[in-house]
Amino acid sequence: MAETKSTCCYCGVGCGVIIEHSANKITGVRGDPTHPANFGRLCSKGAALHLTVVREGRALEPELRTRRDLARENVSWETAIDHAAEKFAQLIREHGPDAVAFYVSGQLLTEDYYVFNKLAKGLIGTNNIDSNSRLCMSSAVSGYKMTLGADSPPCSYEDIDHTDCLLISGSNTAFAHPVLFRRIEDAKAKNPDLKIIVIDPRRTDTAAFADLHLAILPGTDLVLHSALLHVLLWEGLTNNAYIQAYTDGFAALRDAVREITPAFAAQVCGVKADDIIQAARWFGNAKAALSMWCQGLNQSVHGSHNSASLVHLHLATGQIGRAGAGPFSLTGQPNAMGGREVGAMAGLMSGHRDMANATHRAEVAALWNVASVPVTPGKTAVEMFEAIRTGEIKAVWICCTNPAQSLPHQKLVREALEKAEFVVLQEAFRTTETAPYADLILPAATWGEKEGVVTNSERRITRLHRAVTPAGNAKPDWQIACDFAKALRLKMASNGAANNANLAYFDYQKAEDIFNEHASTTQGRDLDIAALTYTILAEQGAQQWPYNTVSGGAKRLFADGKFATANGRAQFVPIVLNTVAEATSAPYPLHLTTGRLRDQWHGMSRTGKAAQLFNHYDEATLGMHADDMQRRKFVDGDLVEVKSRRGKIIVRVQTDAQMRLGQTFLPMHFGRAHLSHSGANELMPANFDPFSKQPELKHAAIQVSGVSLPYQVMAMRLGGTAGESLHELALQRMAALQPLLQQFDYASIALAGRDDPAVVLRIGSKTPISAAQTQAIDTALHLDDDNCLSFKDGRRHIDKKALLQDGRLLGIRFCGEIAAGKWLRDIALEGVDTANLRRWVFAPVATPPANIGSTKGKTICSCNGVGEAAIINGVAAGMDLAGLQKNLNCGTGCGSCVPEIKRIIHLQRSAQYAA
Ligand code: SF4
Repeated sequence: MAETKSTCCYCGVGCGVIIEHSANKITGVRGDPTHPANFGRLCSKGAALHLTVVREGRALEPELRTRRDLARENVSWETAIDHAAEKFAQLIREHGPDAVAFYVSGQLLTEDYYVFNKLAKGLIGTNNIDSNSRLCMSSAVSGYKMTLGADSPPCSYEDIDHTDCLLISGSNTAFAHPVLFRRIEDAKAKNPDLKIIVIDPRRTDTAAFADLHLAILPGTDLVLHSALLHVLLWEGLTNNAYIQAYTDGFAALRDAVREITPAFAAQVCGVKADDIIQAARWFGNAKAALSMWCQGLNQSVHGSHNSASLVHLHLATGQIGRAGAGPFSLTGQPNAMGGREVGAMAGLMSGHRDMANATHRAEVAALWNVASVPVTPGKTAVEMFEAIRTGEIKAVWICCTNPAQSLPHQKLVREALEKAEFVVLQEAFRTTETAPYADLILPAATWGEKEGVVTNSERRITRLHRAVTPAGNAKPDWQIACDFAKALRLKMASNGAANNANLAYFDYQKAEDIFNEHASTTQGRDLDIAALTYTILAEQGAQQWPYNTVSGGAKRLFADGKFATANGRAQFVPIVLNTVAEATSAPYPLHLTTGRLRDQWHGMSRTGKAAQLFNHYDEATLGMHADDMQRRKFVDGDLVEVKSRRGKIIVRVQTDAQMRLGQTFLPMHFGRAHLSHSGANELMPANFDPFSKQPELKHAAIQVSGVSLPYQVMAMRLGGTAGESLHELALQRMAALQPLLQQFDYASIALAGRDDPAVVLRIGSKTPISAAQTQAIDTALHLDDDNCLSFKDGRRHIDKKALLQDGRLLGIRFCGEIAAGKWLRDIALEGVDTANLRRWVFAPVATPPANIGSTKGKTICSCNGVGEAAIINGVAAGMDLAGLQKNLNCGTGCGSCVPEIKRIIHLQRSAQYAA
C-alpha cells in the first residue's frame, strides 16, 4: 500500500489527509497528523472520503449532443474541444466576448482557477467569470475590503487556543467546520473561563455549547452587532488610543449606533437586552477577543455590512493583530480563497488587484503578455444566470459546480439553462442536477487524481499530490481549460474575433508551471507568495500567505496597525440597518432558514455516494417548533406543502426543539438527484447584497400547509451476488430510480447502512401508483424476480413485495400500505435473522413483533455505527460521556457526534430526574 498527502475536498478548514492506495485504487483515508489545520483529525465527511471514490456516476468520457432533442454520445477529446472552441468562437464573433461566460467553483485547485481566469479575461476579453464562491464568501470579502482594505482574513486557527472570548455569529461550526469545533471544545476544556457567545436563530449544537446563546430573529444580525458596539461605547470598553492611531470614520459610526440601545435591539432581534449587554461586556473586557462567522452573515442582502459590523467591534476595541484576537471568516469551500487570490471572479483581478485601477489592469496585461484586460466587471452568479435567461449571454461553461441545485430561485435557473445556446459542463460526476442541461460534458479528474494547491480559511496553502490516475478519460481541470484555450485561440484568430488571441498562451506542461506563474503575479502584493514553491510545500508543509523565505508564512496580519487601505488606516464604514429581503406576512407567515447537516456537504454530488453519511439524516425534513406543528395539526413525519413567492415543494415535517416559534429550517443539500423537486432553493429569493452580490440563501417567508397524498410507497433494497461491489450496486440502483422521482407528487431517495448499503425510496402520491410505475421501481431495485414474496389487494390499491434470501431480508417494495416499512428497513440493515419474519412481513403494523425488531434506532455515531438506542440504554445504566465512549465506542472516531451524545445524556438525565 502506498500513501499520498493531500487535503479533504470539502470545507474551508482544509484538513490535511493521507490517502491510502494500492494498484491505482484509493483504499482508505486518514487525517495527516503533521498538518496544522487538523493535526490528524477528520470529521465524518472527511473520514468517509475514500467511500466516495466510485465509478458509478463518474464522467469518464467526453459526451456531446449537437441538438437538444438528441441524446449525448461519447466523443473523443479532440472532437469535444474542437466543437466547444468552434461554438465559443462563433458566438464571440457574432455577439462579442461578453456573450460567453464561465461559472467555476471554490472546489477547483488554484492552478485550475488561474487558467480559467486567464482564459476569460486574457484570451477572450470578458470579465464574465464568476465562481460559486459568490454564494459563499463574497460578503466576507466585501466586509474585509471595506474595513481592512483587502481580502485578508487576519487570524490563524491557533488563535482559538489563545482567546478568552469567542463570538460566533451566523455559523453552526459544529456541523459546518467540525474539526475546528473540536479545537474550540479543546480550548474550552483547557480554559473553562473562555467565554463563548453564539448568535444564531437556531439552538444548534454550536449554540448549545456556548456560554451565551443569542437566538436572534433571522436577518437581525446587523442590529445586534450595532447594539454590541453601543454597549462597548456606553461602558467605556472601546480602545480610543487604537481608534485614534489606526482608524478613520469612527465618529460617524459612533453617532449612528447611539440610538441602537440594547432595549431597542432586544425588540428588533427578539433577545433579552441583558444578554446583549453581557455579550458586549465579555467581548470588551477580554484580553483577546476572537470572532468567527460564516454563511449566517454572508448569505444576506446586507452580508457585507454584517461582516463589516463584526470587524468594527474588533477595530473599536483594538482586538486585532494579536494572538487570540481578530475577526475570522470561516470559508465554506476548500479553495474559495485560492480563487480570490488569482482573481477568478467577475469583479476581481489577479493577486488582489483592483479592476477599476488602470495601473493594476496594465500590470495584469503585462504579466499575461496581452494587450489589455477588460475594465467592466462581469456578471456575478445570479446576474449571470439571469443574463443567460434573457439571452444576453449565449453560452456558459460550468466547471465543478451545480447551479441547477445550488442557486436560489431554481425555476429561473432552469429557464436559463434551457434558453442557453450552448452549455458546457466540466465535471467529475455526470449525475448532478445540472448535467441534463449540458450539451457537452467534459470529464474532470477529481479528489485524489489531481495535483495542485488550495488555500484554507487561515490563508494556508497546501500542496495536493496525485494518488491515482484519473478515472476513464478524465483530465485535470487546468489541462482541459488549456486545451480549450489553445483551440479557441486558433479559431478566434482565424475568424476575426481575435482581440488578445494572438498573444495569450497556455502552453503549461504541468500544474507546477501554473503555480509558479501565479506566485510571480503576487510579488509585492499583500498576499505575496513569490518565494513559495512546490518543493517548499512538499518539504516544509503547508504555508500561510504572505510568505517569505526568512520568516516563513504570516500567522496573523495587521499587527503593526498598518492596513491595506489607501491611507493605511482601517475604516469604520457607514452601516445601513436592514433585516431580511422578504418579510413574513399574512399569506407567508413563517420564516424559513436553511443550513447544513452534520454528514453532508453542499449538493451531495460526492457525499451522496457514501451510504454511512445518510445514516444520521436521510430525507429533506422541515424542522418546526412544536406549537407551530400543533396549530397546524401536524404530526412528526407528515408530508406538508411548503410555499414561498417563487414556488412550492413537498417535504416531511418534524418537531425541532432548535426552532423558535414562527421559524422553520430546511437543510440545503437535497436537490432533484434525491427529491422529486429542487429542495430548499426552489423557495429562496434571488435578492442579493448590493456590494458583494451574494444572494440571501438563508431566508425566505413561507406558508406551510397539510397535503393529502394517500398513495404511499416505501421501497428498500440491499444485497447482491458474490463478486459484485455492493456499494456500486447500491449506487446503480439509486441511479436507476432517479429518473422516476419527478413522476410523483413527492419522492425521496437515499442510501442507508454501511458495508452492504441499501437504497431507500419513499413516495407520496395523490393518485394510485400505476402498474407501469410499480414495475419500473421493481426493475430498478432488482425486485422483479420470482423469488419475491408478494401480496396484493387491488380494491385497496395495496401491492407489496419482499425479498428474503438466506435468512436475510434484502428488499421490500410496499405500495398503498407502508406501516411496517421503517422497522423492516432497520432489520434488513442490521442483518437480523428472518426466521420468524415471513408471517409478519406484510402485516400492517408500525412496530415490530418483540422477537424480531431492530435494537439500534437512529445512527448517532457515523464512524462506528452506534445507534441512539444503545446510547440511551448506556445512560440508563449510569454511563457518562467517557463511559459511553469506552463501552460503546461512540464519539471516538471523528468526534462530530459528541455534541449530540451530550444532548442525549442531558435529555435522558432530565427525564430520569423528572420521573
Ligand atoms: Fe473535511 Fe471535515 Fe476537515 Fe472540513 S472539517 S476539511 S469537511 S475533514
